[in-house]
Formats: sequence, C-alpha cells, structure tokens
Amino acid sequence: MRVLVVEDEDAIATPLVEGLEREGMEVERVAGGHAALAAREPDLVLLDLRLPDMDGYEVARRLRARSAVPIIIVSARGEEVDRVVGLEIGADDYLVKPFGFRELLARIRAVMRRTGPRDPRRPVEVGPLVVDERARRVTLDGEEVGLTPREFDLLALLASDAGAAFSRRDILERVWGARWFGPTKTIDVHVAGIRRKLGDPGWVEAVRGVGFRLGGPPA
Ligand code: CA
Repeated sequence: MRVLVVEDEDAIATPLVEGLEREGMEVERVAGGHAALAAREPDLVLLDLRLPDMDGYEVARRLRARSAVPIIIVSARGEEVDRVVGLEIGADDYLVKPFGFRELLARIRAVMRRTGPRDPRRPVEVGPLVVDERARRVTLDGEEVGLTPREFDLLALLASDAGAAFSRRDILERVWGARWFGPTKTIDVHVAGIRRKLGDPGWVEAVRGVGFRLGGPPA
C-alpha cells in the first residue's frame, strides 16, 4: 500500500514516515500542496492542513476533484467547524494533532475498509517485494520468486492488507477454501516455504494467538 504524506514539519513527518514504513507501507513524503498534487497517485493521502504554499482544504478539494483516493486530514486545528468542512469537501477522516501512532493506523485501516478493496489488478509493492495477483507473479529486488500456487495465494492474501494480522481460520477459508478439514499446521508449512524463498523470516510475521501478517523488508 502506498501512502502520500503531505506535511511541512520534519519533526512530525519523519517519525510518521518511519512508522508507516515499519508497518510495511510504501511512503512518499512531500512538504507542500503543489508537490502533493504533482505526486504519483497513492492508495491513501495523509494531509496536513497548514501547508506553506496552499491551504490543505484546497489540496483536498483538488485531489478529490480528480480521484476517489482516500484522504485523512491531519491537523492541529480541532474546532468542530473544521471537521465539518473537512468532511464536506470529501476527506474520509480527520485526525487532530497530537495523535498516537496506533490511533492513526486504526484510522487508516478503517478508511481503507470503508473505501473498498484496492484494485486487485494493481500489484502490491512492499519495499523490494512486488506481489502481482493479475500475473500471479512475485518478484524480490526485481528477481522472480518461484512460489507454489498455494504459497502464492497465501502471500497474496497477506499482501492484500499489508501489515494487518490475518487469523488462521481466515487464512484457511480464503486460501484453502471453507471445506478444508485438514490440520492448520498446513499453514505453517507454507509460511516456512515462503520465508525460505524470500530469504528472510521477517517477511511473514507470526502474530501470537492470531495468525500471520505480512512484515516489512528486512532491516
Ligand atoms: Ca503544517
């Protein structure tokens, strides 16, 4: 998932970008409205309202005029009137500084769920890893990774919401089908195969008591 961070203050932008990248997101950061409008279209925009060159509302309005990209407005202004204006011009959510990173992540996930699934034809990029469902192809640093069909389905599922935890039950139902009665150990065997082929166990992280999530690139 690609996130565009529009924020002029380094002290806010730097930890934000680092945190999102740790969650496996691909982040582009720009410091102004014109740069935001010129950037490649992301899957989500985090938009600061007070920008040096343009009003944040105007940036949101222009982004919304040409695409349905989800927009979360991030601002120090907390007045109710701003919240209303922000939502009226087409922002999907509104977050007031200072906010916790966990809260931001929860909002991002909620907005992505509400705005519907990502276009499945678009490859998912997580750092050097590219999962292309349409071509059923995985590349790492541009090199094709030879996964079995089940390994591919499992990785594609995790990549469909990079960083989110998927339960074992969910994985079994969606990769093996609801009528799978075999041992859940099967998932571990396939996870081990994916980790080995990607060359780092960190790509598929175990979430204790839940299941698995797609991790980020090795540090
Ligand atoms: Ca600002």
